[in-house]
Amino acid sequence: MTEPPLEWLALARGTLDRAAELRRDEAFLASAWTDPRTRVLVVERGKALVSDGDAPALALLPPAQAPAGERWLMGQDASGAAYFTVPAPLPAVEGTRPAGLREVGALLDDLESGLLTQSVALEHWHATHGHCPRCGAPTEVRAAGHVRRCPQDGAEQFPRLDPAVIMLVQDDDGNVLLARGPQWPADRRSILAGFVEPGESLEQAVAREVKEEVGIPVQDVHYLGSQPWPLPQSLMLGFFARTPGSRPPLYPDDDEITDAAWYSRDELRAAVDAGDIVAPGPLSIAAQLIMRWFGGPLPKMPAF
Ligand SMILES: [Zn+2]
Repeated sequence: MTEPPLEWLALARGTLDRAAELRRDEAFLASAWTDPRTRVLVVERGKALVSDGDAPALALLPPAQAPAGERWLMGQDASGAAYFTVPAPLPAVEGTRPAGLREVGALLDDLESGLLTQSVALEHWHATHGHCPRCGAPTEVRAAGHVRRCPQDGAEQFPRLDPAVIMLVQDDDGNVLLARGPQWPADRRSILAGFVEPGESLEQAVAREVKEEVGIPVQDVHYLGSQPWPLPQSLMLGFFARTPGSRPPLYPDDDEITDAAWYSRDELRAAVDAGDIVAPGPLSIAAQLIMRWFGGPLPKMPAF
């Protein structure tokens, strides 16, 4: 049975028009920086300033109040106002505090959640790709923050991200496979995930990771949705998959996975109720896939 796509993903809600055609338009960039409608987000090590209070909002500054630094064009909103991100030490703004995606990515409105997600992803790329991979020379920022160019050989580098598959595996009776990573707290469980390797399709990656991690074959691999996960540079691609049989034996590899087990909905509800299992927080696509299987939020689901 084919599942409909996931409807809501915390970090996949951005609404800005990315306006890629304007990134090398120096006249536009200069005039946008003097436009009083323009808004600037300052990011530092994955955090930005958000307002205190129950409904956090990003502290967006007019250009005149923005600190000095590179100006990355993030896009334009429906009114045509431009949004820039400047990587710099966070300024002091009354009534605000620094926060990252894990804290506020799900609480911000669609535009701001997308803006912070995009900004944090770009910041990490710049911070870790300052040199040309061909010759090692320091590279220069181009295209309003979306390209780095080598002055020695002209090679252009574009923001990179690492695709990762994450898959909810069911047996023929609809029981779900949950497991624990060796570094996780003892009560934490989630579905399986892993990075896509070169020369591999997403479906092949799903099958390989499940085989590697718990030793079972899967079939009926169906895509349900994706969300950026710039923590630091992943794109999570979510799937449902099925393995033949009823509660087939699992062989955790102990390297990436421990405590793999099958759960019916009643068993999972009871384990969560008893405090034996903590499910992933709703920020993650893992939680959205589990909720789809479960038929709604789990009891005691962690707040955002
Ligand atoms: Zn070079």
